[in-house]
Amino acid sequence: MAPKPTAKSAPAETPAPPIRQPFDLEDLEGVGQTTADKLREAGFTDLMELAVASPGDVAEAAEIGTAIAQKIIGEARRRADVGGFESGTAVLERRQKLGRISTHSKALDELLGGGVETQAITEFSGEFGTGKTQLGHQIAVDSQLPAAQGGLGSEIVYIDTESTFRPERIVDMAKAIGLDPELALSRIHVARAFNSNHQMLLVQKAQELAREKPIRLVVVDSLTAHFRSEYLGRGELAPRQQMLNKHLHELLRFADTYNAAIVVTNQVSARPDILFGDPTRPIGGNIVAHAATYRIYLRKSKPPKRIARLIDSPNLPEGEAVFSLTGEGIRD
Ligand code: ATP
Ligand code: MG
Repeated sequence: MAPKPTAKSAPAETPAPPIRQPFDLEDLEGVGQTTADKLREAGFTDLMELAVASPGDVAEAAEIGTAIAQKIIGEARRRADVGGFESGTAVLERRQKLGRISTHSKALDELLGGGVETQAITEFSGEFGTGKTQLGHQIAVDSQLPAAQGGLGSEIVYIDTESTFRPERIVDMAKAIGLDPELALSRIHVARAFNSNHQMLLVQKAQELAREKPIRLVVVDSLTAHFRSEYLGRGELAPRQQMLNKHLHELLRFADTYNAAIVVTNQVSARPDILFGDPTRPIGGNIVAHAATYRIYLRKSKPPKRIARLIDSPNLPEGEAVFSLTGEGIRD
């Protein structure tokens, strides 16, 4: 658990996020005024975003042919200096910049290897009432603390798809750890996502916000609810997974660009093919499994206890942690 801060929040010691070089799209060869406007409208305002985009997406956004899109992307790549190999040393260096955010439960932090990691997606799944939304709130509060106290001096983008964001809970949790509740609320930028398209658009908006504010955490609660309710039936499964995949990759790109943590929640669905054992599984199946670095499966225990299980981590052993849902927030 992060120690109780003595002074009111002053998350000054955390380094500022990378400021991206401003540039004019018109400077790129093959990009005229009209194309530049269309690209900007579609959210390609950043050299890096263009450099790592797919020709199909750029062509569609700017209403140009894929050959021209390819050329523009090539130009952006040269300028952004991306696309090559990097040495293991460089990868290690990047990983050494990893930040961590406390969940305010020591046991859960330990299970996660020290807290929720930046440059990665962490998924909390579980049935209703297992604490997914409470965790989203708590991590949003703790991320604001200075690094020495388990935070990143962060402001937060909170994408709320189920209208379950509760400012009152933020106030409770902030007060409990000595943060000024009004300040804590003002640092959380909440957007209600009305459907899956809107939800995806909000990631682009988050990118715009991240150029002005130190956004080191994006919470998406819930990642899958809209996708699940909009794409019904067998024939819809492939397009749903495709869109979900795109959404997750845009989130990952955000995580890499801004050295930010991405926390997503996921409900579970009944799994009729399993007769024994746990008959549920997170929605989104292997798409989420591939994109999420840390997957935590939550289940209820004797109230107010919850059990968190870490599944398929690339660098941590499987294991379980017990935590409690209290009025003050997540605790051991
Ligand atoms: P869903 O799948 O329905 O979104 P969830 O996993 O997001 O569920 P939460 O909303 O995070 O579930 O958890 C709800 C639980 O959190 C409540 O059942 C209660 O145990 C606990 N809880 C919520 N608010 C408080 C509070 N003020 N004091 C104590 N416990 C609380
Ligand atoms: Mg919830």
